[in-house]
Amino acid sequence: MIIVLLGPPASGKGTFAQTLVDHHGWIVFSAGQALRDMAAGKSPRAKKLAAFLKRGKLVPNAMVAHLEDDFFRAHHNKKVLLDGTPRNVSQARAMEKVLKKFKSSFTAFLFFDATEKVSWERIRARVQCEKCHRIYGLQIKPKKKGICNACGGKLIRRKDDTKGVLHDRFRVYQRETLPLVEWAAQRYPVFYINANRSPQSALKQAKTALSILE
Ligand SMILES: [Zn+2]
Repeated sequence: MIIVLLGPPASGKGTFAQTLVDHHGWIVFSAGQALRDMAAGKSPRAKKLAAFLKRGKLVPNAMVAHLEDDFFRAHHNKKVLLDGTPRNVSQARAMEKVLKKFKSSFTAFLFFDATEKVSWERIRARVQCEKCHRIYGLQIKPKKKGICNACGGKLIRRKDDTKGVLHDRFRVYQRETLPLVEWAAQRYPVFYINANRSPQSALKQAKTALSILE
């Protein structure tokens, strides 16, 4: 089962993914995190990738495809959530081809819809664990200020959590991801989740959608 999570930053899809991973045996594939993990290796490919990331350059499609290939080879039969990828129609088409190789395909898309205003209110309050990447914010608070509940790591604000960066991401999201929702709706089940109310409400709606699919 392969579920694609779509939505703007801080729309609650990360929280949803974390809950399913922690309590329901799902695996999450986040392209950004997978790239950072891969870049930490020692192979020539890892070093080349690290150089791309360091300069803030767009990682070549071939490299991303390679990562996806490795991931789906190992996990295409499991319960997989895709968070942050595919982001647009062309990435979705490319991923369809990778999945086809393993006789698999997307099961459904969950679309977490939230406004830029709601997104910013949540991002403003957001901190992340340096070590395990868990996110804390308005809803999930650390028991001890500045310290991760799960691993004791230090909680920091991400450098790219600014209003300007969010605004740019929203423009990209509207230009690239919203057409993907329309594309997906013609081919796969798409579930609409109103993510403006609260992350708990979004979580509940997303779980209901999932129970229909399982
Ligand atoms: Zn932690």
